[in-house]
Amino acid sequence: MRGETTAFPLWYHPLYTDGIHPEARFPRDRYVRLLNRLTANAPVGAIDVRTPNAVQQNVLHLAHDATYVERFLNGELDASEERRIGLRPWTPDMIERTMRLMGGAVEATEHAVQHGGFAGNMAGGTHHAHRDFGSGYCVFNDLTVCALHAIVSLGLDRVAVLDLDVHQGDGTASILADEPRVLTVSVHCATNFPFRKAVSDHDLVLEPGSGDDAYLEAAQQGLDLCLGFEPDLLLFQAGVDGLDADALGKLSVSREGMQQRNALVFDAAAAQNTPTVVFMGGGYAKPIDATLDAFEDLFLAAAVVHGQHMT
Ligand SMILES: [Zn+2]
Repeated sequence: MRGETTAFPLWYHPLYTDGIHPEARFPRDRYVRLLNRLTANAPVGAIDVRTPNAVQQNVLHLAHDATYVERFLNGELDASEERRIGLRPWTPDMIERTMRLMGGAVEATEHAVQHGGFAGNMAGGTHHAHRDFGSGYCVFNDLTVCALHAIVSLGLDRVAVLDLDVHQGDGTASILADEPRVLTVSVHCATNFPFRKAVSDHDLVLEPGSGDDAYLEAAQQGLDLCLGFEPDLLLFQAGVDGLDADALGKLSVSREGMQQRNALVFDAAAAQNTPTVVFMGGGYAKPIDATLDAFEDLFLAAAVVHGQHMT
């Protein structure tokens, strides 16, 4: 694979955890605990942890209504809009957290486009955010902002979004519905949130309890659709809430099944020399340990394949 550095660049900021209130229902510790695991367990030099800057506001306008962006930044969303996003009670750091998270996604995208290989953001995959409202733990939609930034600002012709989170990428589908330069593929469970689904370019819908074989078959099909589009960039929403241990997802995928999924995506992207950005996505096991196991597997696998193909 074309590329210049062997360490897998992974964006992370302490606000990913600390910007969420300790009493929020969302398992905020997953970010800092995953960082600690990766720091302890990744081979020396395999992962390069980088600190994101806040995203430039005008980049958000590629995918979002300027008034919505302005109202969020001014703390003007009303209670029902905040409730639809969740992560409540909001802290004063919610705005800075959101802007750093989006910055991490954009910087990872720029790195993958400019240097080849893989890059990642240790948060995000905020696929439920729509053009003018947030939803389901998502304020802004990092996948669509990055896809449009890659095309409009970085000059790419085609981008594919592969969303393997248990929940449908409804915001992604809706924002990009009339954008032929971006292919949207979502593999998800029929009976999980959102209950009113949007229409992606390809929706591969699984029944609850599907398990490893059906999930891997759909993941392979989604991956083939994405790479068949011959994208200049692949955006991978790598949620692990399809795990059997997850409190929200209903797909009953094993840890080994998730490992096989990761290998499918990373090996194929490397073989096709397609720069790839990994967005963390959902994961809500109670306790959170099974989710952390799967996310650790994910980022270690990305680092290994990236390192092998960047020499
Ligand atoms: Zn999810």
